[in-house]
Amino acid sequence: MINRKRFLQLGLLSGVTSLLLKNGRGQVVTQNGPVVISTWDAGLAANKGAWDILSRGGTALDAVENGVKITEASQNCCVGLGANPDREGIVTLDASIMDHQFNCGSVGFLERIKHPISVARRVMEKTPHVMLVGSGAQQFAVEEGFPLEPQVLSADAQNAYKKWLEHSKYEPAINRENKGHGPFAPQRFDNGEWNHDTIGMLAMDAKGNLSGSCTTSGMGFKMRGRLGDSPIIGAGLFVDNEVGACVATGQGEDVIRVAGSHSVVEMMRQGYGPEVACRKIIERIVKIKKADAQKIQVAFIAINKNGIVGSYAIHKGFNYAIKTKIKETLVDSNYHFTS
Ligand code: ASP
Repeated sequence: MINRKRFLQLGLLSGVTSLLLKNGRGQVVTQNGPVVISTWDAGLAANKGAWDILSRGGTALDAVENGVKITEASQNCCVGLGANPDREGIVTLDASIMDHQFNCGSVGFLERIKHPISVARRVMEKTPHVMLVGSGAQQFAVEEGFPLEPQVLSADAQNAYKKWLEHSKYEPAINRENKGHGPFAPQRFDNGEWNHDTIGMLAMDAKGNLSGSCTTSGMGFKMRGRLGDSPIIGAGLFVDNEVGACVATGQGEDVIRVAGSHSVVEMMRQGYGPEVACRKIIERIVKIKKADAQKIQVAFIAINKNGIVGSYAIHKGFNYAIKTKIKETLVDSNYHFTS
Protein backbone atom coordinates (compact mmCIF):
# COMPACT_ATOMS: atom_id res chain seq x y z
CA MET A 1 0.00 0.00 0.00
CA ILE A 2 1.22 3.54 -0.71
CA ASN A 3 1.71 5.48 2.53
CA ARG A 4 0.98 9.19 2.79
CA LYS A 5 4.61 10.29 2.38
CA ARG A 6 5.07 8.18 -0.72
CA PHE A 7 1.75 9.44 -2.02
CA LEU A 8 2.98 13.03 -1.70
CA GLN A 9 6.29 12.16 -3.31
CA LEU A 10 4.55 10.67 -6.26
CA GLY A 11 2.58 13.85 -6.80
CA LEU A 12 -0.65 11.91 -6.96
CA LEU A 13 -2.70 14.47 -5.11
CA SER A 14 -6.00 15.66 -6.43
CA GLY A 15 -6.40 19.41 -6.87
CA VAL A 16 -8.52 19.81 -3.78
CA THR A 17 -6.25 17.77 -1.57
CA SER A 18 -3.18 19.57 -2.80
CA LEU A 19 -4.63 22.92 -1.85
CA LEU A 20 -5.30 21.60 1.64
CA LEU A 21 -1.79 20.28 1.97
CA LYS A 22 0.02 23.33 0.63
CA ASN A 23 2.84 24.28 2.96
CA GLY A 24 2.52 28.05 2.74
CA ARG A 25 5.15 28.28 0.05
CA GLY A 26 2.74 26.93 -2.54
CA GLN A 27 4.95 24.03 -3.49
CA VAL A 28 2.12 21.80 -4.60
CA VAL A 29 -0.20 23.22 -7.18
CA THR A 30 -2.71 21.36 -9.25
CA GLN A 31 -5.04 23.04 -11.65
CA ASN A 32 -6.75 22.61 -14.93
CA GLY A 33 -5.98 24.61 -18.05
CA PRO A 34 -2.84 26.45 -19.02
CA VAL A 35 -0.08 27.20 -16.55
CA VAL A 36 3.23 29.00 -16.83
CA ILE A 37 6.08 29.17 -14.34
CA SER A 38 9.37 30.98 -14.56
CA THR A 39 12.44 31.60 -12.46
CA TRP A 40 12.95 34.54 -10.15
CA ASP A 41 10.80 37.60 -9.68
CA ALA A 42 11.41 38.82 -13.23
CA GLY A 43 9.20 35.85 -14.04
CA LEU A 44 6.12 37.81 -12.98
CA ALA A 45 6.43 40.14 -15.95
CA ALA A 46 7.59 37.37 -18.26
CA ASN A 47 4.62 35.19 -17.35
CA LYS A 48 2.30 37.95 -18.52
CA GLY A 49 3.89 37.71 -21.96
CA ALA A 50 3.37 33.96 -21.96
CA TRP A 51 -0.18 34.35 -20.71
CA ASP A 52 -1.07 36.64 -23.65
CA ILE A 53 -0.50 33.57 -25.82
CA LEU A 54 -1.86 30.85 -23.53
CA SER A 55 -5.07 32.66 -22.68
CA ARG A 56 -5.94 32.91 -26.36
CA GLY A 57 -5.48 29.19 -26.87
CA GLY A 58 -1.94 29.55 -28.21
CA THR A 59 0.79 26.95 -27.95
CA ALA A 60 3.14 26.47 -25.04
CA LEU A 61 6.01 26.95 -27.49
CA ASP A 62 4.85 30.41 -28.56
CA ALA A 63 4.17 31.24 -24.92
CA VAL A 64 7.64 30.42 -23.63
CA GLU A 65 9.26 32.38 -26.45
CA ASN A 66 7.04 35.42 -26.01
CA GLY A 67 7.36 35.35 -22.22
CA VAL A 68 11.12 35.42 -21.91
CA LYS A 69 11.46 38.01 -24.68
CA ILE A 70 10.04 40.47 -22.16
CA THR A 71 12.96 39.80 -19.84
CA GLU A 72 15.47 39.86 -22.69
CA ALA A 73 14.23 43.30 -23.69
CA SER A 74 14.28 44.74 -20.18
CA GLN A 75 17.58 46.52 -19.95
CA ASN A 76 17.50 46.63 -16.17
CA CYS A 77 17.22 43.00 -15.35
CA CYS A 78 19.10 39.77 -15.29
CA VAL A 79 19.08 38.71 -18.91
CA GLY A 80 19.85 40.16 -22.32
CA LEU A 81 22.13 42.85 -23.64
CA GLY A 82 21.83 45.06 -20.54
CA ALA A 83 23.36 42.47 -18.25
CA ASN A 84 26.88 42.05 -16.91
CA PRO A 85 29.65 41.32 -19.40
CA ASP A 86 32.35 38.68 -19.40
CA ARG A 87 35.76 39.64 -18.04
CA GLU A 88 36.74 41.23 -21.36
CA GLY A 89 33.80 43.60 -20.96
CA ILE A 90 31.59 41.98 -23.61
CA VAL A 91 28.05 40.70 -23.08
CA THR A 92 27.58 37.19 -24.47
CA LEU A 93 24.22 35.46 -24.42
CA ASP A 94 23.03 31.84 -24.19
CA ALA A 95 19.50 30.57 -24.80
CA SER A 96 17.58 27.36 -25.47
CA ILE A 97 14.05 26.32 -26.33
CA MET A 98 12.31 22.92 -26.48
CA ASP A 99 8.82 21.86 -27.52
CA HIS A 100 6.55 18.91 -26.79
CA GLN A 101 7.99 16.75 -29.55
CA PHE A 102 11.68 16.80 -28.58
CA ASN A 103 12.36 19.57 -31.08
CA CYS A 104 14.97 21.84 -29.58
CA GLY A 105 17.33 24.63 -30.50
CA SER A 106 19.92 26.73 -28.77
CA VAL A 107 22.51 29.45 -29.17
CA GLY A 108 25.60 30.12 -27.11
CA PHE A 109 28.24 32.81 -26.85
CA LEU A 110 26.06 35.07 -28.97
CA GLU A 111 26.86 38.78 -29.10
CA ARG A 112 24.83 41.85 -30.07
CA ILE A 113 21.48 40.14 -30.60
CA LYS A 114 18.57 41.34 -28.52
CA HIS A 115 16.47 38.17 -28.59
CA PRO A 116 18.65 35.06 -28.42
CA ILE A 117 15.57 32.97 -27.56
CA SER A 118 14.09 33.71 -30.98
CA VAL A 119 17.37 32.80 -32.66
CA ALA A 120 17.34 29.53 -30.70
CA ARG A 121 13.86 28.86 -32.02
CA ARG A 122 15.02 29.53 -35.59
CA VAL A 123 17.90 27.11 -35.06
CA MET A 124 15.30 24.55 -34.01
CA GLU A 125 12.95 25.23 -36.89
CA LYS A 126 15.21 26.19 -39.76
CA THR A 127 18.46 24.28 -39.43
CA PRO A 128 19.45 20.63 -39.30
CA HIS A 129 21.23 21.41 -36.00
CA VAL A 130 20.37 21.87 -32.35
CA MET A 131 23.03 24.37 -31.32
CA LEU A 132 24.90 27.26 -32.93
CA VAL A 133 27.52 29.29 -31.09
CA GLY A 134 29.64 32.41 -31.40
CA SER A 135 30.15 34.10 -34.73
CA GLY A 136 28.27 31.32 -36.53
CA ALA A 137 25.20 31.89 -34.36
CA GLN A 138 25.46 35.62 -34.95
CA GLN A 139 25.86 35.16 -38.70
CA PHE A 140 22.77 32.93 -38.75
CA ALA A 141 20.82 35.48 -36.71
CA VAL A 142 21.73 38.29 -39.11
CA GLU A 143 20.82 36.13 -42.11
CA GLU A 144 17.47 35.53 -40.44
CA GLY A 145 16.91 39.28 -40.19
CA PHE A 146 17.78 39.92 -36.54
CA PRO A 147 19.37 43.38 -36.23
CA LEU A 148 22.92 43.61 -34.94
CA GLU A 149 22.74 45.85 -31.89
CA PRO A 150 25.60 48.21 -30.97
CA GLN A 151 28.27 46.65 -28.80
CA VAL A 152 27.87 48.86 -25.76
CA LEU A 153 27.37 48.11 -22.11
CA SER A 154 24.38 49.53 -20.28
CA ALA A 155 25.29 52.22 -17.74
CA ASP A 156 24.71 49.77 -14.87
CA ALA A 157 26.78 47.06 -16.47
CA GLN A 158 29.57 49.52 -17.20
CA ASN A 159 29.60 50.50 -13.56
CA ALA A 160 29.59 46.91 -12.40
CA TYR A 161 32.42 46.02 -14.75
CA LYS A 162 34.51 48.95 -13.57
CA LYS A 163 34.02 47.84 -9.98
CA TRP A 164 34.79 44.25 -10.86
CA LEU A 165 38.07 45.27 -12.54
CA GLU A 166 39.22 46.76 -9.24
CA HIS A 167 39.62 43.23 -7.81
CA SER A 168 39.12 40.97 -10.88
CA LYS A 169 38.08 38.02 -8.73
CA TYR A 170 35.58 35.55 -10.08
CA GLU A 171 33.36 34.94 -7.11
CA PRO A 172 29.77 34.41 -8.18
CA ALA A 173 27.59 35.50 -5.29
CA ILE A 174 24.86 33.25 -4.00
CA ASN A 175 21.61 34.97 -4.81
CA ARG A 176 20.53 37.36 -2.15
CA GLU A 177 17.05 38.52 -1.54
CA ASN A 178 15.66 41.56 -3.17
CA LYS A 179 16.54 44.07 -0.44
CA GLY A 180 13.07 45.56 -0.75
CA HIS A 181 13.48 47.08 -4.18
CA GLY A 182 10.14 45.66 -5.33
CA PRO A 183 9.44 42.76 -7.63
CA PHE A 184 10.49 44.34 -10.89
CA ALA A 185 13.52 46.18 -9.60
CA PRO A 186 16.94 45.37 -11.00
CA GLN A 187 18.73 42.68 -9.07
CA ARG A 188 22.06 44.46 -9.12
CA PHE A 189 23.51 45.19 -5.72
CA ASP A 190 25.52 48.05 -4.32
CA ASN A 191 28.82 46.36 -5.05
CA GLY A 192 27.87 46.16 -8.71
CA GLU A 193 27.13 42.44 -8.83
CA TRP A 194 24.05 40.80 -10.21
CA ASN A 195 22.72 38.14 -7.97
CA HIS A 196 21.48 35.91 -10.76
CA ASP A 197 21.34 35.94 -14.51
CA THR A 198 18.76 33.61 -16.01
CA ILE A 199 15.12 33.37 -16.82
CA GLY A 200 13.82 29.86 -17.36
CA MET A 201 10.19 29.30 -18.26
CA LEU A 202 7.96 26.23 -18.53
CA ALA A 203 4.42 26.27 -19.88
CA MET A 204 1.54 23.88 -20.38
CA ASP A 205 -1.03 24.98 -22.94
CA ALA A 206 -4.76 24.25 -23.16
CA LYS A 207 -4.04 21.04 -25.08
CA GLY A 208 -1.81 19.84 -22.25
CA ASN A 209 1.40 20.21 -24.27
CA LEU A 210 4.58 21.33 -22.56
CA SER A 211 7.41 23.57 -23.75
CA GLY A 212 10.31 25.35 -22.10
CA SER A 213 12.74 28.20 -22.67
CA CYS A 214 15.83 29.50 -20.97
CA THR A 215 17.84 32.66 -21.69
CA THR A 216 20.73 34.29 -19.92
CA SER A 217 23.86 36.39 -20.06
CA GLY A 218 25.49 33.65 -17.99
CA MET A 219 27.61 34.29 -14.94
CA GLY A 220 28.85 37.86 -14.79
CA PHE A 221 32.61 38.23 -15.39
CA LYS A 222 32.93 34.70 -16.70
CA MET A 223 35.93 33.77 -18.83
CA ARG A 224 35.59 34.69 -22.47
CA GLY A 225 34.03 31.79 -24.35
CA ARG A 226 32.43 30.21 -21.28
CA LEU A 227 29.09 28.49 -21.85
CA GLY A 228 26.84 27.69 -18.94
CA ASP A 229 24.06 25.17 -18.63
CA SER A 230 21.34 27.33 -20.18
CA PRO A 231 22.02 26.59 -23.86
CA ILE A 232 22.67 22.90 -23.21
CA ILE A 233 19.59 20.75 -23.71
CA GLY A 234 19.34 18.32 -20.81
CA ALA A 235 21.33 20.57 -18.49
CA GLY A 236 19.61 23.97 -18.39
CA LEU A 237 16.35 22.79 -19.95
CA PHE A 238 14.55 19.56 -20.76
CA VAL A 239 11.02 18.73 -21.86
CA ASP A 240 9.47 15.29 -22.23
CA ASN A 241 5.81 15.79 -22.99
CA GLU A 242 4.85 12.39 -21.60
CA VAL A 243 6.47 13.12 -18.26
CA GLY A 244 7.21 16.76 -17.53
CA ALA A 245 9.70 19.57 -17.96
CA CYS A 246 12.43 21.26 -15.95
CA VAL A 247 14.58 24.36 -16.20
CA ALA A 248 17.58 25.37 -14.10
CA THR A 249 19.21 28.48 -12.77
CA GLY A 250 22.33 29.06 -10.72
CA GLN A 251 25.89 27.87 -11.15
CA GLY A 252 25.75 26.32 -14.60
CA GLU A 253 28.85 24.19 -14.26
CA ASP A 254 27.22 22.24 -11.46
CA VAL A 255 23.99 21.83 -13.39
CA ILE A 256 25.90 20.49 -16.40
CA ARG A 257 27.82 17.86 -14.40
CA VAL A 258 24.59 16.14 -13.33
CA ALA A 259 22.67 16.78 -16.58
CA GLY A 260 20.37 18.62 -14.21
CA SER A 261 17.09 19.26 -16.03
CA HIS A 262 17.09 15.88 -17.72
CA SER A 263 17.80 14.19 -14.41
CA VAL A 264 14.86 15.98 -12.78
CA VAL A 265 12.57 14.82 -15.59
CA GLU A 266 13.87 11.27 -15.16
CA MET A 267 12.97 11.48 -11.46
CA MET A 268 9.45 12.49 -12.45
CA ARG A 269 9.37 9.54 -14.86
CA GLN A 270 10.14 7.32 -11.89
CA GLY A 271 7.01 8.69 -10.25
CA TYR A 272 8.26 11.51 -8.03
CA GLY A 273 6.36 14.78 -7.90
CA PRO A 274 8.09 17.89 -9.28
CA GLU A 275 9.37 19.27 -5.99
CA VAL A 276 10.77 15.95 -4.81
CA ALA A 277 12.31 15.36 -8.25
CA CYS A 278 14.04 18.76 -8.05
CA ARG A 279 15.14 18.05 -4.47
CA LYS A 280 16.73 14.74 -5.40
CA ILE A 281 18.96 16.35 -8.02
CA ILE A 282 19.79 19.29 -5.73
CA GLU A 283 20.85 16.71 -3.12
CA ARG A 284 22.99 14.99 -5.74
CA ILE A 285 24.78 18.27 -6.47
CA VAL A 286 25.24 19.02 -2.76
CA LYS A 287 26.76 15.56 -2.26
CA ILE A 288 29.15 15.99 -5.18
CA LYS A 289 30.23 19.48 -4.14
CA LYS A 290 30.76 18.59 -0.46
CA ALA A 291 31.78 21.70 1.53
CA ASP A 292 31.74 23.81 -1.63
CA ALA A 293 27.97 23.39 -1.82
CA GLN A 294 27.80 26.16 0.79
CA LYS A 295 29.24 28.57 -1.77
CA ILE A 296 27.03 27.87 -4.76
CA GLN A 297 23.41 28.28 -5.65
CA VAL A 298 21.48 26.03 -8.02
CA ALA A 299 17.72 25.87 -8.34
CA PHE A 300 15.33 23.89 -10.50
CA ILE A 301 11.69 24.47 -11.32
CA ALA A 302 9.62 21.67 -12.80
CA ILE A 303 6.15 20.83 -14.04
CA ASN A 304 4.68 17.41 -14.60
CA LYS A 305 2.19 16.20 -17.15
CA ASN A 306 -0.68 16.86 -14.71
CA GLY A 307 0.22 20.55 -14.38
CA ILE A 308 1.64 20.11 -10.88
CA VAL A 309 4.63 22.38 -10.34
CA GLY A 310 7.48 22.44 -7.85
CA SER A 311 10.98 23.70 -7.23
CA TYR A 312 13.98 23.20 -5.01
CA ALA A 313 17.19 25.17 -4.43
CA ILE A 314 20.45 24.70 -2.57
CA HIS A 315 20.03 27.94 -0.62
CA LYS A 316 17.29 30.20 0.59
CA GLY A 317 16.40 33.15 -1.62
CA PHE A 318 15.25 31.49 -4.82
CA ASN A 319 11.72 32.14 -5.96
CA TYR A 320 9.67 31.53 -9.05
CA ALA A 321 6.57 33.06 -10.59
CA ILE A 322 3.44 31.12 -11.45
CA LYS A 323 0.45 32.16 -13.53
CA THR A 324 -2.77 30.27 -14.13
CA LYS A 325 -6.36 31.32 -14.78
CA ILE A 326 -6.84 31.94 -11.08
CA LYS A 327 -3.39 32.52 -9.70
CA GLU A 328 -0.57 34.96 -10.34
CA THR A 329 2.07 34.99 -7.68
CA LEU A 330 5.67 34.56 -6.62
CA VAL A 331 6.48 31.38 -4.73
CA ASP A 332 9.42 31.05 -2.35
CA SER A 333 11.21 27.82 -3.11
CA ASN A 334 12.10 25.24 -0.52
CA TYR A 335 15.83 24.73 -0.17
CA HIS A 336 18.50 22.41 1.17
CA PHE A 337 20.55 24.40 3.66
CA THR A 338 18.33 25.56 6.45
CA SER A 339 21.17 27.05 8.48
N1 ASP B 1 22.79 29.15 -15.05
C1 ASP B 1 23.36 30.35 -15.57
C2 ASP B 1 24.74 30.05 -16.06
O1 ASP B 1 25.46 29.30 -15.43
C3 ASP B 1 23.43 31.49 -14.63
C4 ASP B 1 22.27 31.73 -13.69
O2 ASP B 1 21.25 31.06 -13.76
O3 ASP B 1 22.38 32.62 -12.84
O4 ASP B 1 25.14 30.60 -17.06
